[in-house]
Amino acid sequence: MSDAAARGAALEALAVEIEACRACPLGSSRTRSVPGEGSPTAEIVFVGEGPGATEDVEGRPFVGAAGRLLGGLLALIGLRRDDVYILNVVKCHPPANRDPEPEEVAACAPFLRRQMEILDPLIVAPLGRHALHSFAPAAKISAAHGSVVSPAAGAPIPTDATLLPLYHPAAALHNGSLRPTLERDVAALARALDPARARRAAARGAGGAATLSQMQEPPEQHQLRLFEGENP
Ligand code: SF4
Repeated sequence: MSDAAARGAALEALAVEIEACRACPLGSSRTRSVPGEGSPTAEIVFVGEGPGATEDVEGRPFVGAAGRLLGGLLALIGLRRDDVYILNVVKCHPPANRDPEPEEVAACAPFLRRQMEILDPLIVAPLGRHALHSFAPAAKISAAHGSVVSPAAGAPIPTDATLLPLYHPAAALHNGSLRPTLERDVAALARALDPARARRAAARGAGGAATLSQMQEPPEQHQLRLFEGENP
C-alpha cells in the first residue's frame, strides 16, 4: 500500500470513529460530523475552529463563503483544495455558530492529535484566533498572522513542523480591509515551504520522507514529567 493510501485509510477509519463520537454535547446537536478532507500527503494543513451551518449539512469543511475565499487564496499560490488538507479543531457544528466551549475543544483534542499524527504536515496553518489557541494559546492572531510561531509545549503538531497562522477567511468577509492582509499572509505561507522542507530534512536526515512523525508530547505527559521534576 502506498504512503498516500495508508494515510487515507487511517483517516477514513478515524472519520468513522468521529461519526460515532458523542463525547461532548455537540455530537447530539449536529447533523453530520465534519472530520476534514484533502490530500492525505498534503504539506500544508489548514485548521479552522469548527464546522459552520453549511458544513454541518454537507459534512465537509469550509464549503460556504469562507471556503470559497480560502479556495481563491490557495489559487493565488498555485494550489487547489485537493493539494492541501482542511480540518477543524472540533468536528461537530456548535449550535448558532457559537464558539466551541473549552470542554468541547478538550473532548475533541484527541481526534485533532491523531489527524496530525497521520497527516504529519510540514506546515500547520491555524485559521483565526480560536484555532491558533489549540497550538499556541499565548499568541495573538493580530500579531502572529503571516509569521512563523513557536507552538506551545504539548501542541498537536509534529516537532519539526512549522506553525504559521492566518486570519480566518470569514474575518475578511466581514471586514474587507483584511483581504489584502490575507493575500500577503498566504504568499508568506508559500515562501515558508522551502525553509520548512529544509528544517524537516535537517531533522530527519535523508530518509525523512519515510520517517514516522514525531509529535510534541501530549499535555498530560508533559505535565507529568514536570511534576516528576524532569526537564520538559
Ligand atoms: Fe466527539 Fe468532537 Fe463531535 Fe464532540 S465535537 S461529539 S468530541 S467528534
